[in-house]
Amino acid sequence: MAKLVLLIAIIVVVVLIVRGFVRKAASARQAEAGKPAEEQAQEAKLVRCVECGAFVPKGEALPVPNGFRCGNGCAGR
Ligand SMILES: [Zn+2]
Repeated sequence: MAKLVLLIAIIVVVVLIVRGFVRKAASARQAEAGKPAEEQAQEAKLVRCVECGAFVPKGEALPVPNGFRCGNGCAGR
């Protein structure tokens, strides 16, 4: 009887360890998948050029103290 209890205890411990690994791997995968999507959303977001008023993706816009400038000749001035 004592052997059976010991066996059940070992199985419970193994299941808990495996569950912990699976949860850790799943959360790590979610973190990796979530990051690029967030960056893409940031780049896809349109900002307005303070010089000419054109809307350009934030990834292409040049940040200036009073807003953003587009790359169509406004950035260098
Ligand atoms: Zn512009």
